[in-house]
Parts: sequence; structure tokens; C-alpha cells
Amino acid sequence: MAYKWESNIRKVVPYVPGEQPKDKNIIKLNTNENPYPPSKKVSEMVENADFDILKKYPDATAGELVEKLAEFHGLDKSQVFVGVGSDDVLGMSFMTFFNSDKKVIFPDITYSFYPVWCDLLKIPYETIPLKEDFTIDYEEYLGECGGVVIANPNAPTGILLDKEKIIKIIEANPEVIVIVDEAYIDFAPEGSSCLDLIDRYDNLLVVRTYSKSRSLAGIRIGYAMGNPALIKYLNDVKYSYNSYTMNVPSIKIGSAVIDDDEYFKGTISKVVKTREWFTEELGKLGFFVLPSSTNFVFASHKDKAAKDIFQEGKNRGIYIRYFNQPRIDNFLRITIGTDEEMKKLVEFLTDYLK
Ligand code: PMP
Repeated sequence: MAYKWESNIRKVVPYVPGEQPKDKNIIKLNTNENPYPPSKKVSEMVENADFDILKKYPDATAGELVEKLAEFHGLDKSQVFVGVGSDDVLGMSFMTFFNSDKKVIFPDITYSFYPVWCDLLKIPYETIPLKEDFTIDYEEYLGECGGVVIANPNAPTGILLDKEKIIKIIEANPEVIVIVDEAYIDFAPEGSSCLDLIDRYDNLLVVRTYSKSRSLAGIRIGYAMGNPALIKYLNDVKYSYNSYTMNVPSIKIGSAVIDDDEYFKGTISKVVKTREWFTEELGKLGFFVLPSSTNFVFASHKDKAAKDIFQEGKNRGIYIRYFNQPRIDNFLRITIGTDEEMKKLVEFLTDYLK
């Protein structure tokens, strides 16, 4: 039934997040979470928490967290913006930085939230096809446009784009903002991040998250780093929309865990080791696997349809991600879990594909 008011409201086709099943026995490899627990500093923090602080509003600037992040990354606090997961940070960034009649550009296969924000905010955009091998053709990003968004490493392909090529994109676009979404950068080889470029390029914004490498998808913290003028414009938009986005527990926990770098480095190296082992196993089972610099792999089987593997995995309590989307509808995105979880997946695949 159509309501009389329907032509006067904003309608959008929303982003669809991966399933979050309730059953604890499910092996959950569908939303790129970290299989290892967060830093012990979280439980210490909660045990010693003074709940009286919850009666007050949080610090709207989330100053404690901003300062900790700035210190951790060797930046000034004027170069850091925090939000409720990188989704919030990216959404705010699209709203702030993409306000041109020219089209914002990003790959045809990338994080599927980007076109949703563009539609919601009425930002013109164009998707640029990835090359046949699923890499980004950086030369396609050198012309006039309304802004650029690059997930690096890209998702769901897992492929890392060379920093030198990103530099060329940034230098070719001085009049617009280039957002580099580094949600998975901690799983990539050292030196791949664009963070060290923010002092050199005032049009570069680097976005990070606590959700993957820091095992804290549930806390919802993301942040952006860039030139102080960019951060100021972001804050102006944020304070014009919702000032108190960051809640007190998130600010406290986010600040407490940031220094526990040794623990994070340990879990990251475990995930990377498992990823390399699992990639080899997939190869033996007849999968073609794209080279991953993330905590997931993107793979296609030579005979069996991805959709069928996805469905049978689900029937057997193993959740992986399938995108029913042109070009990638025969691929599966598989998050790297613990060794034990990945062994169970290999057992299932060996049995199912025989
Ligand atoms: N960017 C990319 C490329 C992602 O895959 C995700 C995870 N869905 C995000 C951003 C958002 O992550 P979060 O909001 O949990 O920080």
C-alpha cells in the first residue's frame, strides 16, 4: 500500500551488514571480526569502573581518546577525529567533504557502504571497474572528480594498492579530498599505510578502526587522521548533527587499550600466520585465492558454485560471506578465525568438495 506522504520522504536502499547469529556454536567467519579477545585492559577497566560518571554527558570532544590516539600515532590532537566505528567516521566524512557537482569516484568492487552514503546524501558518484585481476587501475583516478575513496587494502578483495600509486592519486586531485579507508591496514606489510603522508598532503584523510585488528568491533570506535583544517571541518559537521556520538565507556576503553600494542601485534601476527596456512589449504582444494593483506581471503572454486558452498557451510554451522553481485558472485569472503576454526572449515570443504 502506498501512503499519501510517500513521495515526500527520503527513501534509501540500506547497507546490509553480515548476519550476527545468536548461537554460540556457530563458526562465524562472515564479518571480518578478530577471533581473539580484546586486550586485558578492557576487563581491568570495567572492573575498576566508576559508574557514577555515567550520570553525566560525555566530553563531546572525546578529548581523552583523541589525545591518546594522537600520542600513539605521533600526531597533534588537532589531526585526529573520532567516531562511532569507522562507518560513522566515513559517513561524516562523505557529508563534510563531498559537496561538489562533480562525481566522487571509487571502485566498482569495494566496501558496499560507499554508494549507500552517496545515495543517502545525494552525492553524485561513479564507480570505476577494477582490472580483470581485481586490482585498482590507479590511472583511472587521475582526472577531474568530486573526491576519491579508496579502501586500502580493498574489501572484499583483500588486495593492497601500492602507496606510490595512492600518492599519484592524491597529487592529481589537490582540489578534492582523497579518503583512504585503512580498516584492514594492520594486517598488511609494514610501511603500507598512508598515515605518514598526512603532513605532506592537506587533501588526504586516513580512516582507521578498532573493529578488526583491535578485536573491538562491539565497542564501535573509528577515527580519521588528516590536516587540522580537514579535522576542523569534520567536527563542525559532527557538532551540527549529533554532538555526543562517543559514549563514556567507549572513550574510556578506547583510551585504555591503545597502548597495549604488544598484545595487538601478537594477535595480528597469529591471524596473518593462519591466513597464509589457510590460503595454501584452499589452493590444495581447488580454490583460486586473491592475494590478501587483510584478515580475510576472497576465493573462488574451480568447479563448485560459491553460492552453494556458502549455503552448505551455513547448514553445517559455518558462516562465511557471499555477495550476489556482478563480477564477484562466484567468490566467497572468508574471515580468518582461530586455527581450530579454520581447520574445521577445511574439514567441511574437503568433505563437501570430494
Ligand atoms: N571500511 C571497511 C572497508 C570495512 O570493511 C568495514 C567493516 N564493515 C568498515 C569500514 C566499518 O567498520 P567499523 O564501522 O566497524 O569501524
